[in-house]
Amino acid sequence: MIAATYVQGGAFAVEDVPRPSIWRDEILLRVGASSICGTDVRIIRNGHRKLRAGRKIVLGHEFAGTIEETGAEVIGYRPGLRVGIVPNMGCGRCDMCARGLANLCPDYTAFGITMDGCHAEYVRLLASAVQQGNAIPLPDSLSWIEASLIEPFSCVVNGQRAARLMPGDSAVIFGAGPIGLMHLLLARHTGASEVILVDPDERRLASGRKLGASAVIPESGDGVLSTVMEWTAGRGVDVAITACSSCEAAELAVDLLAPLGRLCLFGGVPGDDVRMRLNVNKVHYRIWW
Ligand SMILES: [Zn+2]
Ligand SMILES: [Zn+2]
Repeated sequence: MIAATYVQGGAFAVEDVPRPSIWRDEILLRVGASSICGTDVRIIRNGHRKLRAGRKIVLGHEFAGTIEETGAEVIGYRPGLRVGIVPNMGCGRCDMCARGLANLCPDYTAFGITMDGCHAEYVRLLASAVQQGNAIPLPDSLSWIEASLIEPFSCVVNGQRAARLMPGDSAVIFGAGPIGLMHLLLARHTGASEVILVDPDERRLASGRKLGASAVIPESGDGVLSTVMEWTAGRGVDVAITACSSCEAAELAVDLLAPLGRLCLFGGVPGDDVRMRLNVNKVHYRIWW
């Protein structure tokens, strides 16, 4: 089968690899669609801390597909079933796993990182994935492409829940890439009153405009502050989300918050210069200028 592979400390390749075989407590999945994540690109560029040198993996962790084959001991799944996949498995023993927060497990295993992933025709679902219910049956109405976006969209839902975005809230989103646009769609769906998008890329802002942004802002710095204050009658926004890799965006986001505003630091920042400066009195007293 064709697969996109990566060797830790070495090369990325699209090549022919053997189709995986399964044990009696595993599932073989035929991939319907597989999305490319920023993490895939980061692994190709920088490797991954969980991979030892020379280890080769099939990349990819955002996917859905049809069950091709189930091992004799697998219960609850059958060939032909369409499923979406939760890509990470918790260790089951740590404090986070005990609290049901396997997504925060420090000893997690994951498709496309510690085991072969989905940028391939077939994926082997290990027993840990089968037993933890990581394969979730899908409705027929969902296309493969939509289903392959469940995982990143779930992260967006999780982020906005943590930021307690409510109907009537105003929001500003830094970054109008795929994740920023998902944040826009979800905020609109929740019933946000205003959603303002900030991004240097005009084409991305045009997509944001089509998807319901109240205002799109190409500049940074003062332009953002004045536009947000204009749209919120000087109040600031209830929720600010950074869906980009920028400490400056995070610093600016604090300046834009209304009293009781929430900041969701959604995007990670690469490199060593990852500290943000925080004016504590802006948070405490809301003294802006
Ligand atoms: Zn991802
Ligand atoms: Zn754990």
